[in-house]
Amino acid sequence: MTAQIIDGKALAAKVREEVAAEVGALGHVGLATVLVGDDPASDVYIRGKQKAAQSVGIDARDLRLPADTPEDELLGLLADLNADDAVDGILVQLPLPGHIEETKAIESVDPAKDVDGFHPVNAGRLYLGRPGLVPGTPLGIMRMLEEYEIETEGARAVVVGRSSIVGKPMAHLLLQANATVTICHSRTRDLERHTLDADILVAAVGRLHVIRAEMVKAGATVIDVGMNRTEDGLFGDVDPGAMERAGFMTPVPGGVGPMTIAMVLRNTAAAAAARRAGIVANPAS
Ligand code: NAP
Repeated sequence: MTAQIIDGKALAAKVREEVAAEVGALGHVGLATVLVGDDPASDVYIRGKQKAAQSVGIDARDLRLPADTPEDELLGLLADLNADDAVDGILVQLPLPGHIEETKAIESVDPAKDVDGFHPVNAGRLYLGRPGLVPGTPLGIMRMLEEYEIETEGARAVVVGRSSIVGKPMAHLLLQANATVTICHSRTRDLERHTLDADILVAAVGRLHVIRAEMVKAGATVIDVGMNRTEDGLFGDVDPGAMERAGFMTPVPGGVGPMTIAMVLRNTAAAAAARRAGIVANPAS
């Protein structure tokens, strides 16, 4: 058996079309990206987000501050953006320079404009199963499962990785979708025992091919979040040999990656609509 490929690129294009229609109906949607310093990788990410936002009609502001910007100044800028009615979403590019406390910056973004879904208020809402803004990567994965009609109800889901931006929100979304969820991490004993049990396996580790083909249950849905850059190109956390065992599998590149930005755009449109209606955004619905 060879797995059916979950085409993240095609699905992301579809999501962007939906967002463009939402933006058109709303009239104006504003996004501000904030980059402190001139890290080349961050610059690439910011340019990608700006381009993607503009492609769906979002009015995107590209705000750049020098690397030695004092923390107070960044927090002041975020306060201004929170108060600016033309701004519906705020993205602070991480990592920030060492003299700025990342949690302070994250917590200074209005939760209603936190389109990355990193603010503790949004994380808390997700934990409680209440509407709120959810990080783009796990949100995009849920959309992939939905699109390919992969049953979550009663399924055994195993999430490898417990970061605040991928693993933990992923586990909560799967739980909310009535899966039975196990979270694995670097201290998990006998990882294979867990992964072999998974109907849905999400690998969000950041270690090249840490999930070997024989660790995947026959017919399972395998979602590979990993982005491991090597001299030979970009590879995931899952050995491509798992294609011979899985039922569905995301490729790297062209799987989860394109969905992440598309869902951040979706969050921005949802945040705009919710602020106008005076309610909490619920892009997962
Ligand atoms: P992270 O913060 O470094 O977290 C990695 C997680 O993996 C941690 O929970 C860690 O456990 C666990 N881990 C490490 N080694 C392990 C092992 N040998 N066995 C089992 N678990 C292990 O990374 P992240 O931000 O979640 O990102 C994970 C990967 O996804 C990276 O490759 C990243 O580039 C990629 N990513 C892709 C996208 C996308 O859009 N495609 C978006 C975000 C991230 P401990 O908690 O015990 O340390």
